[in-house]
Amino acid sequence: MPTPPTYADVQAAAERIRGQAHRTPVLTSRRVDGEVGASVFFKCENFQRMGAFKFRGAFNALSRFDEAQRRAGVITYSSGNHAQAVALSARILGMPATIVMPHDAPASKVAATRGYGASIVVYDRYTEDREELGRALAAEHGMTLVPPYDHPDVIAGQGTATKELIEEVGELDALFVCLGGGGLLSGAALATRALSPSCRIYGVEPEAGDDGLQSLRTGSLVHIATPDTIADGAQTQHLGELPFAIIRRDVDDIFTASDDELVAAMRVFAATLKIVVEPTGCLAFAAVRRLAGELSGQRVGVIVSGGNIDLPRYASLLA
Ligand SMILES: *Cc1c(COP(=O)(O)O)cnc(C)c1O
Repeated sequence: MPTPPTYADVQAAAERIRGQAHRTPVLTSRRVDGEVGASVFFKCENFQRMGAFKFRGAFNALSRFDEAQRRAGVITYSSGNHAQAVALSARILGMPATIVMPHDAPASKVAATRGYGASIVVYDRYTEDREELGRALAAEHGMTLVPPYDHPDVIAGQGTATKELIEEVGELDALFVCLGGGGLLSGAALATRALSPSCRIYGVEPEAGDDGLQSLRTGSLVHIATPDTIADGAQTQHLGELPFAIIRRDVDDIFTASDDELVAAMRVFAATLKIVVEPTGCLAFAAVRRLAGELSGQRVGVIVSGGNIDLPRYASLLA
């Protein structure tokens, strides 16, 4: 395992993505504050370029490639947002990108990835191993593999969202972060421990796939079957090794949210904050809503991780 990144790497990433990534807005709502009984600060990465925080990590990683790596290009595997993030970053930096995507990836994510000019290789989520396929193609064509979360530059890039949040609103009592493979949560933990040391840090994963919680409890990486949940960005089978090393050290606890709770949170985002948030992006806020009574009077950060969802699907979830 490579050395886990530190807050200095998050700071370096912030310099690299400056002028390329958006500094996304922090939204607040008196109505939500009233319902939760706390001051809630939403860091809205649904407004990030390509619609999710993943642009931060991908651009940071790709901007560190040397000349030879740029010429041969980047390859990755992803069910969606990391694919778009790598494809867009590669286009900006002028290098070829190959994306290994599941056959059942959301149509909007496949179309967007293709739209950024990437080549797509399709695999079967339930029978093929995407990591093996990615590694084999990388070796065959000399491409550099940038995985979605288990990579120091990806983690450092994701940490810049929380760095911006705390720099803008000041120290927090608690921070809630959506959790899949752990790139976002581990990056958030690095920034939080540096900028708001006493803040409690929580990951939130789908109830159908609580491998992160099991891993934190047992102290070793738990693998599960692909969880059945509407949170398609968090259908991971295990945390990354690097994220887990940071999560074990810095994260206070992990909560879960059911699909029904995600839809309820999505409804509040639409009706009250007037923003479109994809199911995975609702994880953190869903946990805050469930814990409302225990957060009273506190300053609470919520990372809204992304907003990419097919509109017909969005409409049917809200209907
Ligand atoms: C990837 C993703 C996550 C999970 O991030 P990890 O770094 O894998 O934990 C959460 N929300 C959205 C919208 C994502 O695209």
